[in-house]
Amino acid sequence: MNFKDLALVEPLLRALKTAGYTRPTPIQAETIKPLLAGRDVCATAQTGTGKTAAFALPILQRCAAVSRRGGVRALVLAPSRELVIQIAAAFGTYGQHLPNVRCAAVYGGMDEKELRKGLSGGVDIIVATPGRLLDLVGHKFVTLDHVEMFVLDEADRMLDLGFLQSVQQIAELLPKKRQTAMYSSTLPAPIEALSAQILVKPVRIAVAKAAVADGIQQLAYFVEPADKRPKLVELLADPAIRSAMIFTRTRHGVERINSHLIKAGIRSAGIHGDKPQHERERVLALFTKGMTRVLVATDVAARGIDIDGISHVINYDLPNVPESYVNRIGRTARAGARGVAISLCATNELQLLAGIERYTKVHLSRVGEWPVGVVAPAAERAESPRPGTGVAQRRPPPGAMGRIGTVKKR
Ligand code: AMP
Repeated sequence: MNFKDLALVEPLLRALKTAGYTRPTPIQAETIKPLLAGRDVCATAQTGTGKTAAFALPILQRCAAVSRRGGVRALVLAPSRELVIQIAAAFGTYGQHLPNVRCAAVYGGMDEKELRKGLSGGVDIIVATPGRLLDLVGHKFVTLDHVEMFVLDEADRMLDLGFLQSVQQIAELLPKKRQTAMYSSTLPAPIEALSAQILVKPVRIAVAKAAVADGIQQLAYFVEPADKRPKLVELLADPAIRSAMIFTRTRHGVERINSHLIKAGIRSAGIHGDKPQHERERVLALFTKGMTRVLVATDVAARGIDIDGISHVINYDLPNVPESYVNRIGRTARAGARGVAISLCATNELQLLAGIERYTKVHLSRVGEWPVGVVAPAAERAESPRPGTGVAQRRPPPGAMGRIGTVKKR
């Protein structure tokens, strides 16, 4: 499926292309159509799955279709100031070619001047934290009489933070005839009860959270883009990497990396969507049999590939969607085995790294100095050293050692 299949209008498709989105994530594929059709939605999905675009795109499309008659048409409630800012920025990105649709962020701590500026001249969409919004409604700064679309984001977090009553109060102020979408990572009883109050015959969608297998050690190696190819060759010189999948975002990238590795004498092959089926099968068979040591792939081409014995996954670049990171690294440590995931992270990818850490709730160990010792999967490290085989015995440089290992966030 691609975004065109979701019946999105051209200015939105153009913005998605600029943002580098090639296809909808599962939550987008499942919720955009019902939302465009006016249905209520109850979605179980986490941040990191692309859920913001899943509700922002239909809202923008509906706001663009009919010009504003007065008042706010769409209201998005989110539990924290950070999330409100992030969601409002997403509306700005996706709505960049819809200059007539205006969005404002409203959260605690904003000064009044800032607020007045944001709301002056009228806005179509408000993204707000509940407390501050109620405060503004109370002062007649904002009216909610014209709201047609209401999104409650991170409903379970609203409950945890004690905002449920404010949310209910706001829902009471909204017109009865409206569309509502609720997103929550879990559905505890009070949230189920709330959904029964605010949603009408919702389409229920659950996107299972992709879980990181226990046996994967995750590391982030800091490398700037210009150094990535030579550093990759350096890494692969180590026989501790018995067999690796290397991920990159684009087909073009697969071709470039693969030919670079072949030139460096590494037995490598590439797989992506532009390759004919028989070629993909041939490449996969070679990799499965161990005839090639490295398989360079795009996310899409790698979907469904289930090969045992991949010791390392290397993210040549970080994926935009954190969920894809989990899918990528899940190619190693299959069937209870151990594996290592190495992400080559440049300064301009630090935000993506932070998003991945939020989604997986795992802090990736940072390795900043080169050359670094490659880490062999844990089971192999536990074995007695095999003569002449790489870093299972090679000592990492001082400083790097202490930072190796995946730390579960408390
Ligand atoms: P969210 O779960 O909405 O916080 O989104 C997580 C990240 O995925 C954000 O950085 C988005 O920019 C990115 N993203 C959302 N949808 C897509 C898509 N279809 N393709 C690529 N990146 C996406």
